[in-house]
Amino acid sequence: MQSIDKLSLNSYTLPELKELFSEWGEPAYRAKQVYEWLLKGKMPDEMTNISKPLRARLNELTYTGVDIERRLVSPKDGTVKYLFRLHDGNLIEGVLMKYKYGNTLCISTQVGCNMGCAFCASTLSGCVRNLQAGEMLSEVLAVEKDTQKDDGKHRAVTNIVLMGSGEPLDNYDHTVRFLKLVSAAEGINISQRNISVSTCGLADKIRTLPDDGVHVTLSVSLHAPNDEIRSSLMPVNRAYPMHEVLSAAKEYSEKTGRRVVFEYALIRGVNDSAENALELSHRLRNMNCHVNLIPLNTVKERNLCGVSREDAHRFCRRLEELNISATVRREMGSDIEGACGQLRRRVMNEGGVE
Ligand code: SAH
Repeated sequence: MQSIDKLSLNSYTLPELKELFSEWGEPAYRAKQVYEWLLKGKMPDEMTNISKPLRARLNELTYTGVDIERRLVSPKDGTVKYLFRLHDGNLIEGVLMKYKYGNTLCISTQVGCNMGCAFCASTLSGCVRNLQAGEMLSEVLAVEKDTQKDDGKHRAVTNIVLMGSGEPLDNYDHTVRFLKLVSAAEGINISQRNISVSTCGLADKIRTLPDDGVHVTLSVSLHAPNDEIRSSLMPVNRAYPMHEVLSAAKEYSEKTGRRVVFEYALIRGVNDSAENALELSHRLRNMNCHVNLIPLNTVKERNLCGVSREDAHRFCRRLEELNISATVRREMGSDIEGACGQLRRRVMNEGGVE
């Protein structure tokens, strides 16, 4: 994987920008002015209250934004799937889902993914590179702007989930930076309460999140009631077995006071039996948690099938009878390849985007 060599201007946190400005002999309030522009997605040349020489200096730093390459709207439920182009030509995906209470934007944190989960399209070609925080912020701002065209009055993006391509905690530094930028009062100001970070279970990284100022909703992709099934689906389970993932999740919940969500994709004949539900309920006893069930989205390249919605509801009822809070996630945008990594993959297989 290519590493991130140079921190882009729009990935700087406010203290870092102040430090840079003090090295340049510029006052701290200037750093704040620039920070406010950057959080609005503005380039140095658009910063009207900043002097030309300072703008020129800022222009020497890299700036990492995204452009909307394609936009697919689901006629079924209004879900919008975005394909973004990065400055180096790489493609990533985002999905805007519309609910009664607001709109949830799902964004990517890496180009591809290295985690190797057996059911996931994002990981089929590995991880090309990490995204910078500024690129993640730019995904949000691009969708906000695109949606404002339809309705200028209301905030378009009210909730964010880091559930697109990539493993956010495998790109820890930039994920934490992004959470600070997107929730900063000076910018788009989306509260951490309205943000979810989804992880395949990098336990040591889960443990350090609260001390790094993160108190978002933590979603853990569990997908199995025991190590045997989990390791067969998720190679990461060999590095961080279930007891470690569960104890890190519990610690996170205790430190932040937040309920942890466990994602569980139901795969026919693999993790969907009554015994699987019973074993799962034992593992999750005494935890402030909720289980999000989703019938697996079949990925052509993989030989794993989802269950019917009726079977998903049956599994859900079993968990509830065992006193585990659970719901079946609404399927959004399945007609426009809403599942993680599917659109990017199809476009790449078609030979790219002209
Ligand atoms: N790497 C992170 C976030 C990205 S994946 C994680 O593992 O959580 C976002 C969610 O989609 C995860 O819960 C993942 O397991 C799930 N997912 C991936 N492929 C899927 C598929 N084919 N069907 C259903 N869920 C899938």
